[in-house]
Amino acid sequence: MLSLPAAFLAEFGTPMAPPSADQIISGSDEEITFVLLERCQALVIKALSDSRYKDIRVNAICLPKFEPRVFTYWRQDDPNNYVISCNIGTAALIRRILVDANFHELLPNSCVLLRTLHPDDVLTIAISLILCTLLYHELAHVVRFHLPYKISCAGEMNRNMEEIKGMCEVDADKWCSYLIAPEISSQAAGIKCAIANVLNMEQEHILREVLSLYGLVLHLWFSFFNKTMFRISSFYPHPLIRSTRIAVGAADNIDRKLIAPHLAIERAAFVLEELASIEELLLSKAGIDQKPFDLADEMSAIETRFDEVSRVLDPELAEMVLKWSKSSV
Ligand SMILES: [Zn+2]
Repeated sequence: MLSLPAAFLAEFGTPMAPPSADQIISGSDEEITFVLLERCQALVIKALSDSRYKDIRVNAICLPKFEPRVFTYWRQDDPNNYVISCNIGTAALIRRILVDANFHELLPNSCVLLRTLHPDDVLTIAISLILCTLLYHELAHVVRFHLPYKISCAGEMNRNMEEIKGMCEVDADKWCSYLIAPEISSQAAGIKCAIANVLNMEQEHILREVLSLYGLVLHLWFSFFNKTMFRISSFYPHPLIRSTRIAVGAADNIDRKLIAPHLAIERAAFVLEELASIEELLLSKAGIDQKPFDLADEMSAIETRFDEVSRVLDPELAEMVLKWSKSSV
């Protein structure tokens, strides 16, 4: 039984009840959303109960709204109660963006296996991977205590809040890229079971294809928002860099028994190269209405931010974590 904060219910309304097993349509937006919310909930509970924050409650729920939105609810006056919330319309928008962009046609030629699968099956995998990324990004905000951290910084003098918000976003992406790696491995394992055994394909090759798909579809998703919402400037990195960095982070964190370490760099270059050509294609289709950028500069900027996260944010968050572990033991 869910026990959500009264203030959340008053502001956002009642969440949807999970559909029963006999009602659910396999591969539907509803099924994908509820399966992933359940997984997100289990992961966050594990992350918090493995640590000392036993009083913190997190519910991952779905709201019956068409507007696409995934967010974390938290209030200073009820600090042990988080809600990771996803509107049902989010999966539908992901589906539309991917279909409109003809994502299946954009798959690199090297994705032999994915190109032989039915496009609807690849679409289901792609929607799951994007939605999972959005949920795990929020999960990272929770387990890294970004929300209380931002409140505490806002109360201090001379803090550059834009910079702090930007750093928390990069940090959430960084953690999300680690958390998503097992999802990518399990999608690859599922494909191997379903089809690749027949084709006698190596697990490494299937993983590489799923990573390419992941980088590509994540890029289409971030680009959509960059063009509609963050046209002029944003504290989020450029979508090309964001999608590449998350995909590379995921590749780096895939179980070493499944993938050879020396291939990580090669994979990173591969993902970036493929995405750069897709970016050019999108820009030429849509007209250039996106922030101008230089790929090398942006890539080095994100690496600097990743370093900044460990140099600046990690020690500050450690203080936050200490405070919270004290208050909730
Ligand atoms: Zn965020």
